[in-house]
Amino acid sequence: MSMCAGCSKALLPGSRVFQLAYGEYKATYITPTFNPWRDVILEWHEDCLPRSLLLVLLEQEQPYHCMICAAKVSDAEQVTYFTRGSKPSPPYKRLEARGYSLPMIAHIECWARALGRDPK
Ligand SMILES: [Zn+2]
Ligand SMILES: [Zn+2]
Repeated sequence: MSMCAGCSKALLPGSRVFQLAYGEYKATYITPTFNPWRDVILEWHEDCLPRSLLLVLLEQEQPYHCMICAAKVSDAEQVTYFTRGSKPSPPYKRLEARGYSLPMIAHIECWARALGRDPK
């Protein structure tokens, strides 16, 4: 069972959740895929997302632009992204009922640089 990064309580199936993940953008799909070697970073109940993060989210429909460098996100690029949706039952990780937009997307290198980390 995964836990909310805000209140530390369980994220029960069916609850509304924000999910931050690593993945790869595929131009034909609204939501990037997960990377097999790293996927979900953190999750929050919709109401538990810190205000500092909520304020920097930039809801977008395709074509997506990196929230940090503003360049267009191209097919097969590695990204960090938020989705908002319903928590599925384990072992599934992808949120359901995600809608047609993404709350946030950024190149993985831009995201790491913004956090002051080495992207490698
Ligand atoms: Zn919570
Ligand atoms: Zn970028």
